[in-house]
Amino acid sequence: MKEAAIVQPGSGHDLLSCRDLSVRIDGQDILQRCCLSVGNGELIALIGPNGAGKTTLLRCVAGAMDYSGSLSCSGKDIRAVSPGDRAALIGYLPQNGQIHWPMRVRDVVALGRLPFGKHAQPRNLGKDDPVTRIMRDCGVDHLSRRIANTLSGGERARVLLARAMATQASVLLADEPLASLDPRHQLSTMEALRHYASTGRSVVAVLHDIGMAIRFADRVVVMQNGRIAGTGSGKDLLQCGLLEDVFRVRLEPFFDENGRLASLALGNRS
Ligand code: ADP
Ligand code: MG
Repeated sequence: MKEAAIVQPGSGHDLLSCRDLSVRIDGQDILQRCCLSVGNGELIALIGPNGAGKTTLLRCVAGAMDYSGSLSCSGKDIRAVSPGDRAALIGYLPQNGQIHWPMRVRDVVALGRLPFGKHAQPRNLGKDDPVTRIMRDCGVDHLSRRIANTLSGGERARVLLARAMATQASVLLADEPLASLDPRHQLSTMEALRHYASTGRSVVAVLHDIGMAIRFADRVVVMQNGRIAGTGSGKDLLQCGLLEDVFRVRLEPFFDENGRLASLALGNRS
């Protein structure tokens, strides 16, 4: 399959737009008037303390939660889009995903192609098939014939990410895709997400590693208490002190000679 051309972040129209997104459950405001625009080619890191509302925001976009406000993808109101069309527009990797069935890994990843008919059939897979390519990108090709519910937590996480990526949806929502991954696979997963976005799609990834967010994301969106507390380049957010305030920690960044974040030391606030 031919790769889409590399797209500069933010060129063109917004792929995803959230306006005044709010969720209220049992009298509690879980999300309060969140606004977010994501352009094609963009990798957005969504960060914030536990309970800030990150998963809730992704679940609203994925159609798994009721909300007030408006959500549109590729200019279409998400509420008006059929479930089949929505699957082509939005891919979703839930937090802590499980695999309950004894299916082969290759078949689990191929489930991501279901909205696209014949490509969903694992027998059709050749070496340039999207499923095969994505399994390679996610470093799970060697697991292809393994039974998915016998995998380690980190292996399972990479297989589920491969399934979400196999949709080739315009917007990929990934809720803590680095959880339970070893350092090498954290890096390769961020590179795979970067590549996914660079082909004219966009990615919103919930991350807890602030350094990874700053190194890889085009923009970092910070949530706190159900609100968007700030949006910008990681460097700007570090410099204005927002990240230290929101996470209530001390952050000491070290930049290389090209101005890129080399490391980020973390300490308690005095
Ligand atoms: P995050 O992903 O940022 O850690 P969540 O979006 O999962 O946070 O949750 C935000 C807040 O909303 C938490 O306090 C959580 O307990 C609450 N919450 C989320 N879903 C529900 C629900 N269905 N019922 C009640 N409270 C919820
Ligand atoms: Mg969460």
